[in-house]
Amino acid sequence: MLLDNLQIEMFRPKCNPNFQSVHCVAHLDQDISGVLPYLNTAMGGGGDYIDSPPTLTLQIHGRLIALHAREIFVNALKDETEAEKIIDWLKKEINQTWEHRDTIEPTFDKPPAPQMIEILKLLPKTNCKECGEPTCMVFALRVIDEVKEPEDCPQLHPEMKIKLTAYLSRFHRES
Ligand code: SF4
Repeated sequence: MLLDNLQIEMFRPKCNPNFQSVHCVAHLDQDISGVLPYLNTAMGGGGDYIDSPPTLTLQIHGRLIALHAREIFVNALKDETEAEKIIDWLKKEINQTWEHRDTIEPTFDKPPAPQMIEILKLLPKTNCKECGEPTCMVFALRVIDEVKEPEDCPQLHPEMKIKLTAYLSRFHRES
């Protein structure tokens, strides 16, 4: 087993303490940097892996998960129960991947994908929730996951919708 002990700490985004969602950081007793490129493959190979310092960033169901050597950050959580569930799932994935690393080809490169910050720049950034997401940032991540489309934001100005559609068309997407 690579990862055994960890402690979860919950916090609210400093930029807006009134956000309903919370973030968490898991402080790890073991160094997991060696598993990160293998975990990238196990998670589909679409993560953003950085070699120095070793970091793997994943976007799963509109949520940002950043894995570092001794910390795991997860954003847009409902509460501590949800945080514990996700961290527990990640711990299992990390340990299973480490156990089977001899049969897994590590993934160091990231395929071209739309960038969250570029999408967010074009959104109204009012966090009005009319799209069904808690924030514009989560909506942007859902667009990257191809779960949401520009037309799913009722507040999006037509000019920005054209710009966002044009930006997304630069990447190979299913639709
Ligand atoms: S509807 Fe648009 S402006 Fe409102 S939270 Fe969603 S993305 Fe942001």
